[in-house]
Amino acid sequence: MKEILHIENLDCPVCAEALQEDLQKIKGVRSVQVDYVSQTITLDAENEKAIAKVVDVANHFEEVRVLEGGRYALTDNSHKKEWIRIGISALVLTLGLVFEHVTGLAFGQMIAYVFYAIAYLVVGWPILISTFENVKKGRIFDENFLMTIASFGAIAIGEAGEAVLVMLLYTLGELLQSIAVGSSRRSVTELMALKSEKATRLRQGQEEEIAPENVEVGDLLVVKSGEKIPVDGILCSERAVLDTKSLTGEAEPRTFDEGAEILAGYINVGGRYEMKAIRPYKESAVQKILDMVENASQGKAKPEKFITKFARVYTPVVCILALLIAILGPFADGLLTEGLFYFKDWARWLQSALTFLVISCPCALIISVPLTYFSGIGICAKQGILVKGGTYLDILAQARAVAFDKTGTLTEGNFTVSAVHPVENVSEQALLSMVASLERGSAHPIARAFEGIETGHVFDEITEIPGQGLIGRRQDEEWLVGNDKLFAGKGIAFTKRESVATLVYIAKNGEYLGCVEIGDRIRAEAKKAVSALKNMGISQLVMLTGDGRERAEKIANEVGMSAVSANLLPEDKLKEAEKLKQNGVLIYVGDGINDAPVMATADCAVSMGKLGSAAAMEASDLVLISDDLSALPKALRIARKTRSIVLQNIIFSLVMKVGFMALGVAGVLPLWLAVFADVGVMLLAVLNSFRVRFLK
Ligand code: ADP
Ligand code: MG
Repeated sequence: MKEILHIENLDCPVCAEALQEDLQKIKGVRSVQVDYVSQTITLDAENEKAIAKVVDVANHFEEVRVLEGGRYALTDNSHKKEWIRIGISALVLTLGLVFEHVTGLAFGQMIAYVFYAIAYLVVGWPILISTFENVKKGRIFDENFLMTIASFGAIAIGEAGEAVLVMLLYTLGELLQSIAVGSSRRSVTELMALKSEKATRLRQGQEEEIAPENVEVGDLLVVKSGEKIPVDGILCSERAVLDTKSLTGEAEPRTFDEGAEILAGYINVGGRYEMKAIRPYKESAVQKILDMVENASQGKAKPEKFITKFARVYTPVVCILALLIAILGPFADGLLTEGLFYFKDWARWLQSALTFLVISCPCALIISVPLTYFSGIGICAKQGILVKGGTYLDILAQARAVAFDKTGTLTEGNFTVSAVHPVENVSEQALLSMVASLERGSAHPIARAFEGIETGHVFDEITEIPGQGLIGRRQDEEWLVGNDKLFAGKGIAFTKRESVATLVYIAKNGEYLGCVEIGDRIRAEAKKAVSALKNMGISQLVMLTGDGRERAEKIANEVGMSAVSANLLPEDKLKEAEKLKQNGVLIYVGDGINDAPVMATADCAVSMGKLGSAAAMEASDLVLISDDLSALPKALRIARKTRSIVLQNIIFSLVMKVGFMALGVAGVLPLWLAVFADVGVMLLAVLNSFRVRFLK
């Protein structure tokens, strides 16, 4: 069973790794992922017992607490206690420094040490405790451990003031980091507040408040002004004005008329109205979106994985280097400068070694990278673009080619019958009802054109031939509806027509009966979206369609595609996609009908998320829930920005670390300055990652 636990107080990415390792060891846990940025534990366990054990272990890990009821921690930790501790420690440290260096009293030095000790313990005590507990568990090389060693080292070389500064700056850095990450997290979790807290049910004229989960299909609900819609439903009142921004990214409130489908998560900005529930809460679009965003932290991007792996070797390597410097440094110094075998200037070399220890914290690196992806996913979600993992942002940023499905993607997919051409002796009415009867067996957008038309025929069996049409059987009759390809394949004589509309031919037992023209419009935004992609340097824009060549080319030219492949069966679409993939990263945009294999093959599959079409949403990696193609260039822009910030941060942090190491070896970097610089790099990287959030 899968479960997502929400936690709070998980302090750092390194702790997340450690907790994850602990949880993996629990019996009955198939897989588990602890995510620091979103503060979640995603878990696949064999039974309830294993889950209970996970909750227990997590609750006993440092300060971590598992939150009840799958709720996000939106409470704002004011960090008051930490600020007070830092303030007191800084004050006492200042007094110590004054006594040591300014007063010139005989006892000044001793009084100073008392002050230092107090200042040290005020900020350092929790760090010492954590170190002790972690070492007991055999977990060394965590940040607490490094700071403890560094400060002990400083005391050993007689720099007590410096030892205090190390702890003080480290605590300050952690605090600032927690504030920065918290603010970023909040901007994403606010999105999670899409869920409404209660529903008002109307029964026999009485209103009663119930949880959205308890709403049953068919319940009559009342939504008052300012409230969120609790479950997906149909509007029963004459008119409603709803803010759909949270789901679709549309800024303007939309007006819905009686009978329209309205979705959970929309906010009522008009007056009170009534609605009828059509789906239980669990199946509502908003719940699916929340599930997807929650699972997004699973799809880790390459740079993210790289950095986690890197951190694992980086810390021990730098620690070993520190040890070597402490031992070999003074030895080499003595040998090279004086030709003698002795340890020269050991205090200066110990200082260099300690600087290394401080710099060996991988925090700057591993915090900003997932944070940037997390922000990128959050920004996309706000624009009505669902991204199922940082890795897809990464892929999107590197896209070389974009392939589009035609029907339902470049076109609206809203078919309506525009002309009927029966053969002699068959009435238009009769022909339409025959086609409509067969199309009842199809989920293709074409079938929707026949929804309102009376059917008159009942079939024993209707089979869909992907990319071609349908076969219906009853007794010894065989009926066909579909395109020219289907008819040619079956060797049926028919009158081929030319039209910009889609043609649906029909035959009964091999005898051609006529043809229905159904019109579909090109999406209003298609041309603009395609040219925006072109301007972003994507030159390969290809249309893949099962439809006929002429019509396909006409539409492709109109929207500005660079190439067209027509007459494709689903497996041909797959082959075309594989060819395109050879030239670089391929994005495929489709509607999930007749193109599931292509979706699986493309590096990143995008679906037009007519809200509610669950299959396509599940098959794709990116969903444009606003059902608007212009969200695609937007997504691309966010993805590129995210990736460039990630790379900037990785390079910046690494260069700075190496720089500090060089200064450390040269012996020109005081310990406190090393901590200060390390914290500074981390904060700069985190602040840089904020830039994703301010993307226009
Ligand atoms: P596209 O790539 O344009 O989305 P599809 O692969 O979904 O096209 O379908 C290709 C063609 O197959 C359609 O244009 C239509 O002519 C025919 N077709 C598929 N399903 C049906 C159906 N249910 N009824 C009639 N024609 C169909
Ligand atoms: Mg299609």
